[in-house]
Formats: sequence, structure tokens, C-alpha cells
Amino acid sequence: MVGGGIVGAAVLYHLTKLGWSDVVLVERKQLTAGSTWHAAGGFHSMNSDPNVARLQAYGISLYKEVEAISGQDVGMHLTGGITIAATSERWEVLRYEHERHRVFGIDSHLIGPEEIKQLCPIMDTSKVIGGLYDANEGHIDPYGSTHALAKSARIAGAEIFLNTKVEDLVHKPDGSWTVVTDKGNIQCEHVVNAAGLWAREVGQMAGVHVPIIPMEHHYLLTGDIDEIAGFDGELPLILDMDGEMYLRQERNGVLLGVYEKNSTAWSVNGTPWDYGETDLLEPRLDDIETELMRGFERFPSVADAGIRHIINGPFTFAPDGNPLVGPVRGVQNYWSCCGVMAGFSQGNGVALALSQWMINGEPDGDIFAMDVNRFGDYATRSYALEKGKEFYENRFTLLCPNDEWPAARPNKVSALHDRLQQANAVFGSSFGLEIPLWFAPPDSVPTETPSFRRSNAHEPVGEECHAVRESVGILDSSSIAKYEISGPDAVAYMDYLFASRLPDCGRVRMGPLLLPSGHLKGDLTIMRLAEDSFMVTGSGYLQEFHMLWFEQHAGNKNLRIINRSNEMSAIAIAGPLSRELMALVASGDVDNNSMPFMSVQTMNVGLAQCLIARLSFTGELGYEIYVPTVYARALYDQLLKVGNKLGIRPFGIRALLSLGMEKSFGIWSREFTPDYTPAMCGLDRFVDYGKADFIGREAALVDRDTKPEHRLVCMEIDSADADAWGYEPVWYKDEYAGFISSGAYGHTVRKSLAMAYLKPRFLDSSDNEFSVHIVDQRKPAKIIPQAAYDPSGSRMRS
Ligand SMILES: Cc1cc2nc3c(=O)[nH]c(=O)nc-3n(C[C@H](O)[C@H](O)[C@H](O)COP(=O)(O)OP(=O)(O)OC[C@H]3O[C@@H](n4cnc5c(N)ncnc54)[C@H](O)[C@@H]3O)c2cc1C
Repeated sequence: MVGGGIVGAAVLYHLTKLGWSDVVLVERKQLTAGSTWHAAGGFHSMNSDPNVARLQAYGISLYKEVEAISGQDVGMHLTGGITIAATSERWEVLRYEHERHRVFGIDSHLIGPEEIKQLCPIMDTSKVIGGLYDANEGHIDPYGSTHALAKSARIAGAEIFLNTKVEDLVHKPDGSWTVVTDKGNIQCEHVVNAAGLWAREVGQMAGVHVPIIPMEHHYLLTGDIDEIAGFDGELPLILDMDGEMYLRQERNGVLLGVYEKNSTAWSVNGTPWDYGETDLLEPRLDDIETELMRGFERFPSVADAGIRHIINGPFTFAPDGNPLVGPVRGVQNYWSCCGVMAGFSQGNGVALALSQWMINGEPDGDIFAMDVNRFGDYATRSYALEKGKEFYENRFTLLCPNDEWPAARPNKVSALHDRLQQANAVFGSSFGLEIPLWFAPPDSVPTETPSFRRSNAHEPVGEECHAVRESVGILDSSSIAKYEISGPDAVAYMDYLFASRLPDCGRVRMGPLLLPSGHLKGDLTIMRLAEDSFMVTGSGYLQEFHMLWFEQHAGNKNLRIINRSNEMSAIAIAGPLSRELMALVASGDVDNNSMPFMSVQTMNVGLAQCLIARLSFTGELGYEIYVPTVYARALYDQLLKVGNKLGIRPFGIRALLSLGMEKSFGIWSREFTPDYTPAMCGLDRFVDYGKADFIGREAALVDRDTKPEHRLVCMEIDSADADAWGYEPVWYKDEYAGFISSGAYGHTVRKSLAMAYLKPRFLDSSDNEFSVHIVDQRKPAKIIPQAAYDPSGSRMRS
């Protein structure tokens, strides 16, 4: 373990807790000598990701455990916390969040201004509409909590070397490491980078680029405030997101911190080794003035109390503000545990997940939101700087599910980008690549209004869906991940890797990947191009995540695994007239006999040699055309030119999701994640339980024969202006029945649709009297027994 901040100490403790005792922490100075010592120590259990929220709740409960083991006071102040709303939009979102907390297991309460005033008498609540209260929030002593974790780990056998600087990491041929320190070498099997402010430098020692950026951050401490001195109790932790600030009690005064719009990145090109322990940065009062003034307005007595002390210290941010946790691809036995922006809320949870990963081979549940492999080589230092700054400045900005943040864009663009721009595409970004979300009407500005309800995209997306259902649509699907797996051992390897049967030559099959626990690891499409040659496709943003898994299981087998995602583009043609179009441009026969559903062939399309798969992600007759990127634009032009007479129309990802929802097609990260098993989500129909062996087989057999905790169903919701997004609770009468995994409006069937994980005992409710919280209102809903559109699948097979 490199680093003795809150995160390194938490990992050290959790490794011992889960059974390893031969573990060592190396700290260049004293424990807490990085960001940790000057933190405000606030913690929250609320988070918009249910698994991160679960880990945060666990982490808070752990402090008492290590206090008891170590005898070290952690300085716990479980004061409760209130997130307040001063705008009607924020209040609506807090009410929505409150409903979703039922799904996350968070026991939050909505409270009004009077109750807020009682709990926090120094607040001017005249402009406050309400707040969301969570009893499981507060603050902790950074020194005490770090030392309690470290001491507890020591009691369980861990060693800690202080004043010992790691200077190099040498990877040995057997995959183990020599850790070179200024006091001598340590031989070990695994290295964890928990070096916080210096994680970039410790990354470089192993040739690993760590996409984080330290940002300066201020809080001030006031002198005594009379109202607090006379208050019977302790102020709760206050998050005032509209004011972009937080506040908690400190003795008889307060600590007030701000997330300023005028932010400053620190030590962009590397953290100096001589920084730490007692260093602080020069305050930038001019830059934080706006937010401070807002704070003084909300808490008038704070302005009068006088600033006793002002702290400006750096801490690190990943491009999306989430931690970077897990095994690093390409560097065996090297683990990342850095970019932890909220160490006191998240340190313990992150440490638990990492320790499970190191010891058991996988973390419990879906922690992709903090997986280090969610980024690729596009996340350069410059990218991390722009994105980290954007995240910092928007830390408390009200975010809608359709928000697309602009920093560091465009970064990667597909070969069709200018053509899509000419068609007035509204772009999103996935794995650094610009992707067409939908197409705005000609002569309008191609932007989407952020909203929890249906936005200005609703009508245009509807038109795109109709074009696909009635004639033919064309989609730039270049963002899809494309892997070539081939070679003499490819068949044996693929057969063990995938839980499904492998397709025959020239055929395509859906291929679930399972973890040893039987939970899902992937939902890929396997195309067999020749006896020992496969093309595998999947969600583009999972490229590093998939490649790590593929490589971890390759051993020294004789095969090639190549990520072709950048060098190959993909264009999807979908709709009843798509065969007519393909017949006009393709060199071979594309009729149903020559090219049946779920088959794949190489042929010329226009001038280019392409791989064509007869697939459907829309529920219509459709083809996916894979082509080397240099040919993609000419091919796209040709398809548009020839398709013009058939009424061809470009469509985007939003239309794709709506069309897929009408067909009840689940997608990765929503219906399919490591939280679920094949029997829960219906992917069991692709699992070949009779196969001799595959990863997760034993657990999959148990899963097949056990009643699942939740089962995936399709639902129809009676909602006029908004659709479900995910993790909304589903009620049966007044009983909690389960939760939504994703939702969309079905433009063909003219219904608000969703997919939901429900407890099995509710599945046969004959009266079908369900309801779902959409934004802040309960809407009637019912289970629909089959896909809303073409349940027999005749159209895509036609
Ligand atoms: C002003 C401020 C207020 C904050 N308030 C809060 C808050 O209220 N709540 C919250 O949750 N978070 C808060 N934070 C963030 C919090 O401080 C960080 O999330 C947390 O400290 C990160 O801990 P860490 O262990 O990852 O990194 P660090 O604390 O930076 O620890 C890294 C350690 O690694 C050691 N190290 C580095 N390189 C080497 C090497 N080569 N060899 C040996 N040792 C090495 C360093 O000396 C250091 O001790 C705040 C931060 C600041 C700056």
C-alpha cells in the first residue's frame, strides 16, 4: 500500500478484515500528510448511484467499529444532515431523490423551513422551500479516523512504515513487485496506489497514467456565534447546493466551505514531493467572494462572527468526480485506489470494494461508477484538467438526466461527424467520442433543454422512430466496441469465456459473460467469421472493462485479442425498407435465405469491403455494417444518396433506446449489471447450462434452480409529460414492490414504458394495481406480459 491518508489506511484495514495479514503500508511522512489532514471531515450517505450510496452508508457505520477495536477516538459527530432547496426546481429534485432513497435503503425525510430552522437556528430560511434530512450524516476527525483505521489494521497484523518514501516500483517477470523506498526494498505480490495527491507520480513509477487533477478548495472557520453557544444540540451538516456551499458546526462557531465557479487547479504538471503535512495554499478570497456572500446571506450571523481561520488545500478529482478503483489493465497485480474526492464519505466503501476485488477476485455488486477502467487513453492529463475543473465548478449544480457537459469536447469524433453536424445532430459523449443523440429540426439550434420531463427532443425523436418503423433509418453506431478474437486457441478460449454456445461460422449469437459468482459481467454479441475467428461487439464505453477481462483469462493461450473500436466504424440501417436499400448497394444477395436473421457476411457495400451482420436493436429488419474507418464517410454518403428515394432518415441514440424499449430489449448498465444474474433478467435464455465448463457455470446452475430475489418485467406507466429514468420505486398498492431499471416513451405504441425489477411475489398480482414515482408524482402503472411492439419478433426476422 503506497499512501497513509484516509484511503490508504482504510484499504489496509479492510485487507486485514477480509483475511490478509501480510500487508504493509508505506507513508513518506506521517499518516494524513496529504489532503487528509486539512479536510473538513464531513460525510454523507446520499448518492445518486445506489451501490455507491450502499458503500457510503457502510463506510459511515465502520468508524465506530475501528474506534472500538483501536481505542482511538474518531471524533464522530453524527449530527444528521440537511440538503436544502431554495428553488422550485431543486425542491422537485429533492422530492424525487427522496422517493429513490426507498430503493437505495436510505431513510431520508422531507422537512419544511420551520423544522429546518429548529434544527439549524442560524439559517435564514425565508428563501428556503424545504430540505431532505438524513440522520446518517455528520462529520468526523480526519486525524482520529485515519489513525483508528491504521491502528486497527496493525492489531490485525499489518505493518506501517512511516517517513518512508516509495521511489520506484519494479515489476518482476513473475508479476510480483519490488517496491524501492528510500529506506530499502520491499518484495510484494500486489501494489496499491493510494497516494492521493501524489497518485499521478506513483502511477508513473509503474507506467500508469492516472487521470486526476488536484483542485484548490477553501473553507473558513468562524469565531463563536452566540446562537450556537446557546443552542441545545449540535447543528446538522448543511448542504446548500443552490448557494454552492456546505456548513457544519465547529466548536461554538461554524465551518463554511464553498465550491466556487472561479476554480483553480493546483500543480497541474505534478505534485511537489516537498508539499504536505503542514502546508496550506494562499487563500484566493476574490475568487470565492460570490459564494461566500451567498453563505453570509443564508447564515447572517456567520458574517458577523468574523473569520477565525481560512483554509485553502488541494484534493484530487477524476474527470467525473468518482474514485478510480480496481485492477489496472496491462499491469498485473497493480491496483488503483485514488481520485477519492470525498474520502470521509467514500474511503471505507472504496476500500471494502477494492479489498473484495483483491481477495475474492471481484467486488460485491456493480461498482462500475468508480471502476478505474471506465476511462480510456482519451483521458489525457489535459482532458482530466478540463473535466476535473468542470466537475468541481458544477459539484452542486442541479443536474438533469439529459444534461450533457461541454468541457473537453469534442475530443474523439467519428468519420461521419461533419455529416451528422450538417444534419443538425445534438451530440452526447461516450468514452470520449461524440455520438448523435437526436437530430434537431433544420434551422433550429441543436441543443436540448435539461429537464426531468420530456424535453424539446421528444417530437424529433418521435419522427426518427416513425421513420425506422415505416421506411428506413440510418445510425452512426461507430461508438460500439469491436474486438477481434482469433487464433488456434480462440474456440476453446471463447467457449470458456462465454456462458452461451458459440455461433456456427457465418452466424451471430448473443453472448453473456458471467462472473464466477454467476452475476453478469457482460452482454456481448459474438459473430463467427471463420472457424477460429470471431468479431465480438458491445457497449463502447466498456472497452477497457471488457479488454481487461478478456486479457485476464487469456493466460498464455495462442490467440489474438485486438480492440478494433477506433479503426473500424459502424453504420446501422434499420426499417422495413432496409433490405431494399441494401440490395441496391451491396455486392451480394441480402434476401432472407442468403442472409437470414443473426447471420454475418463479408461483401462490398458501395466501394468498400464491409462486414455485414443481420441484427436488430430496433425490432425492425436491420443490418449493421462494419467498415474500416477511412471508408466510412464515403459509404455513409452512398447509403444516404441511394436511400434518399426510400425516404432514409438519420436517427440517434435516443430513438434507438425508445425503439428498443418497445421491444423490451434490456441494455447494459440498466437492466444488465453485475448486480443481476441471468435468471433475474432473462438472459438465461442465452446461457448453455449443458456446456461442460464456462466462467460462472456452477453459480449459474444454482441461479437457474433458485427463485430470484427480483425479476425483470416490462411496465406501462400512465404518465403524460415525463418518463421514468431509473431507480424510481414501484409500489403495489402501498407496498414497495421493486424499482425501475430504465424508462422511455414508446413513440410507436404511444405509451410511457419502463423495465423494472420486481419481487417475484408481486408478479402475479391479478389486479395489476401498480404505481411508479415519476419525478415527484405517483403514476398508475401495470405490468405488460410481453413486449409492447411486435412481441413475436416477426418484423426483425422478416
Ligand atoms: C479543504 C478541504 C476540505 C475537504 N473536506 C472534505 C470533507 O468534508 N469530506 C470529505 O469526505 N472529504 C473532504 N476533503 C477531501 C479529502 O481530503 C480527500 O478525499 C481525502 O483526504 C483523500 O485521501 P487520500 O488518502 O486518497 O489522499 P491523501 O490524503 O493525499 O493521502 C495520500 C498519502 O500518500 C502519501 N504518499 C504519496 N506518495 C507517496 C510515496 N511515494 N511514498 C509514500 N507515501 C506516499 C502522502 O504522503 C499522503 O499521506 C477535503 C479536502 C480539502 C483539501
